[in-house]
Amino acid sequence: VERTLAIIKPDVLYKADEIEDIILRSGFAILQKRRVHLTPEQASDFYAEHYGKLFFPSLVAYMSSGPIIVLMIARDHAVSYWRELIGPTNTVKARQTHPDCLRAVYGTDEQKNALHGSDSFMSAQREIRFFFPDCIVE
Ligand code: ATP
Repeated sequence: VERTLAIIKPDVLYKADEIEDIILRSGFAILQKRRVHLTPEQASDFYAEHYGKLFFPSLVAYMSSGPIIVLMIARDHAVSYWRELIGPTNTVKARQTHPDCLRAVYGTDEQKNALHGSDSFMSAQREIRFFFPDCIVE
């Protein structure tokens, strides 16, 4: 089995139970779970790769606007399977091309896209360490 990091973002926190159900029904085990309210500094660190982009300040404001739920989830091909389930980054486009994906169903707009998923095995390891520093990830 492989692990990945999923985040239920502030705009859909109130749907967290429903989304966790979908995660479990999709064959994932939830290995770790934390509810966190990121400071703007922590949100900037997490999204450091986007520093300098036009949308960076509003991304940081969004991700620190309220509590999030961070989940370490596992199944075979977890990274790519979770990315496929959540769908394209832009909710508005996702609704046109992948109407069943979770971002199409739960997202708010181009930025507030409800869910995060690590985009590679390496970023999953980094992101799991970011939120669960005591976890041993092989
Ligand atoms: P995430 O990292 O949250 O899973 P992603 O990998 O699909 O999303 P990234 O390109 O890493 O997308 O962007 C990170 C986040 O920044 C997106 O989830 C979205 O909230 C925001 N974002 C990305 N591109 C834009 C954009 N062009 N305009 C506004 N917000 C954006």
